Amino acid sequence: MLTQIGIAAAFGDNSEEPLTVDQLSHRPNVDVLRSIIDKYRPDLAVYEEFYRQVHQDPEVSGMELNTAAVVARHLRKLEFEVHTGIGGHGVAAVFHNGQGKTILMRAELDALPILEETDLPYKSTKRMVDRYGNERPVMHACGHDMNMASLLGTSALLKAAAREWSGTLVIIFQPDEEETGGAQAMVDDGLYTKVPVPDIMLGQHVVPSKSGTVAIRSGPVLVAADSANVRITGGPCPGVNPQQCVDPIPVAIKIISQLEYEVRKDVGPHEDFTVACWGFHAGIPGNDYVAYAEFSLDIKTVKHTVREMAHQTIKRSIIDGCAAAKTPREPVVNFTVRAPLTTNDPSVSEAVGRVFAGYFEANAVEMRFTRACEDFSTLGKKHSVPYAYWNFGGSQATEGPVPTNHSPFFAPAIQPTLQTGTNAMALAALSFLVM
Ligand SMILES: [Zn+2]
Repeated sequence: MLTQIGIAAAFGDNSEEPLTVDQLSHRPNVDVLRSIIDKYRPDLAVYEEFYRQVHQDPEVSGMELNTAAVVARHLRKLEFEVHTGIGGHGVAAVFHNGQGKTILMRAELDALPILEETDLPYKSTKRMVDRYGNERPVMHACGHDMNMASLLGTSALLKAAAREWSGTLVIIFQPDEEETGGAQAMVDDGLYTKVPVPDIMLGQHVVPSKSGTVAIRSGPVLVAADSANVRITGGPCPGVNPQQCVDPIPVAIKIISQLEYEVRKDVGPHEDFTVACWGFHAGIPGNDYVAYAEFSLDIKTVKHTVREMAHQTIKRSIIDGCAAAKTPREPVVNFTVRAPLTTNDPSVSEAVGRVFAGYFEANAVEMRFTRACEDFSTLGKKHSVPYAYWNFGGSQATEGPVPTNHSPFFAPAIQPTLQTGTNAMALAALSFLVM
């Protein structure tokens, strides 16, 4: 039985019937796609140079001015219609190439406030003031430079191969992914008044698995993540001795240490979640009266029901813990959404997975669900755009532990990683664009 997906209107046809998997992907022969990829792949030396340049000049979230300018310059050279300054420094480029589907492809512009500790000849030694006014070291420790270089390579390939396919390309370089605000900011800033609403969205990320590999799966691939900021108030002092006050530090520590257990009790033994303390601040050295203990929590879940239940349990546990300790005021607990669950559409991810298996053969593997989070899906949330998100490997290590994303030692091998990322994104797009 064919899976039905309700995105007929988005394809611009007049039929009211939802499209089927076969209509969604025309199942182009992988040999046809292979010949297009091999014939039209650009000289990747240009994008290697881009990679080194951006790696040495990273910019933290919300401050991606130079990176966006370099990306926009490359896209204009490829003769895309380029829009800049969307939701901060977001860049969107369009290439109309006849009838067919509109495919959105996305990479991220931002780096992390991390001091690079690799010994690469092109390592970053940069420091910059972030949007909060703090001076920080900066490093592309998540590999967004590789994601960008690959997407530029794909854009050049697809532009050169225009006679082989028809449809519309929307290329997005999103700001502020690390703090997961950039996708929503681009949408709120009128992204879809500048570019068409896509029929399908594609995203990929370099990870420290073997360079040359790609990994995809259907269904959930990345967790939903939320933060909770908590303030517990100490005092009052009935006498003159601060030691007679309710000290909020042990109260907070006791609560934090029991949160995971409390949530587990409520959601049951088999549900996937984590609750971790991300930051803790209390007191001032030299003052033995501690007015507040403030901490933040990182909450990761896979199911909406578990997410709701975890939030309720966390709030209740903090209130109960403070009541038991007789803190003079109720605690303040504020939840903020960081990233929604990333769930690959079965039809899109199966179509992409089929092409990957044909092209990459043994190097196409099943993606593992990870506790990373992303705001990629936010780009299509309002229009319920189906999407696929996958990983591609960047490590050439043959033994020992491999530095992971966000490590100060994270260092993808430029090749064959760049070629793999370029090929993977181009293949995925072409699987919906070649008639
Ligand atoms: Zn990342």
